[in-house]
Amino acid sequence: MKLTKQNSIEKTNQVYDAIVIGGGAAGLSAGIYLQRYLLSSLIIDKGKARSVWMQELHNYLGLPPDTPGKTLLKQGKEHYLTLGGDLLNAYVEEVTDEGETFLVRVKVGRTNSIYVEFRAKYIIAASGIIDHLPALEKMQNVFDYAGYNLHVCLLCDGYEMQDKKVGVFASSESAAQVAFSLGWFTPYITVFTQGLFNVSYELRQKLNEHGYFLVETPVKQFLGENHQMSGVELEDGSVVNLEAGLISMGSRYHSDYLQSIDLEYLGGNLVTDKMGRTSHPRVFSLGDLKVGMNQVVVAAADGALSATQIWRDIRRQTGAKRNLDRLAA
Ligand SMILES: Cc1cc2nc3c(=O)[nH]c(=O)nc-3n(C[C@H](O)[C@H](O)[C@H](O)COP(=O)(O)OP(=O)(O)OC[C@H]3O[C@@H](n4cnc5c(N)ncnc54)[C@H](O)[C@@H]3O)c2cc1C
Repeated sequence: MKLTKQNSIEKTNQVYDAIVIGGGAAGLSAGIYLQRYLLSSLIIDKGKARSVWMQELHNYLGLPPDTPGKTLLKQGKEHYLTLGGDLLNAYVEEVTDEGETFLVRVKVGRTNSIYVEFRAKYIIAASGIIDHLPALEKMQNVFDYAGYNLHVCLLCDGYEMQDKKVGVFASSESAAQVAFSLGWFTPYITVFTQGLFNVSYELRQKLNEHGYFLVETPVKQFLGENHQMSGVELEDGSVVNLEAGLISMGSRYHSDYLQSIDLEYLGGNLVTDKMGRTSHPRVFSLGDLKVGMNQVVVAAADGALSATQIWRDIRRQTGAKRNLDRLAA
């Protein structure tokens, strides 16, 4: 059922088997599996998933390669709702471990917000990450191209950049290393530091050896039209023509709400076992937020694994009792 500001209060007495934080590919897949295991679940999603930014999903088995992320999410939400799952568009502020259950504090509505608290036996953190973008004076100029031919994901879009003149927009020496992996797809690479870091002698040498260019003057704006970036204008007024771009500036990890729980992280990613279980036995993490490959197919598989493990846990704890209760009913 779709929950709203009005009816979400009715669900505050229920203890869900699992609350899933994030309704992207990972969270929706987990929700679909949980419901099909006859478990109760609530997905809380604030919207604006990374997948919405994905204009075309190029590499997902069975879907046309121009499928927009939006379509995948819309169908995923509809599928989940038809299985009887609860879905709330809201922001999770905090999760507290109460022992047997978790208390999930949620802000519903951007204006005239209300605060609601839900409880669950298991938490699935599927809240993803969001990529840092070049901070230009007019951010709309970045949004016009990001996700089109100004890419953020080499694994997703290396193929799209084959033999093109590509600008790599890096925020640090280590982030600039992506240029060497991109070199598998194209030899025409210019690394832009945007004036954000000093380039070491070693990196200069390596770029030079590969035949790549280096531009240290900050970028003033991206040039182009109809969402197709065709180059950059630098702060000194000069123009560099490009056919595509790759942003490599790190990410923000959506895990603030887990602060009060002691979990193991690697960088900003949650460390999990192969079923998605974190260092807390009843907290799972999926998709981009956990250590692993940031791909839709992986996020969807993570959802299947975590839901299956939660079902196994609950089934084993329940033992014969559930059967006897059903026979007696
Ligand atoms: C431009 C672009 C192109 C891409 N192209 C491809 C491609 O071609 N193929 C491919 O496989 N992958 C691609 N990817 C990667 C892919 O989008 C991600 O790997 C995938 O979306 C990860 O899914 P997720 O469910 O982990 O996270 P997301 O899809 O980001 O979903 C997480 C959700 O959690 C919500 N959330 C966060 N914090 C909270 C909170 N506190 N409370 C409630 N909700 C919260 C977010 O708003 C979001 O809706 C691309 C990514 C980008 C940015």
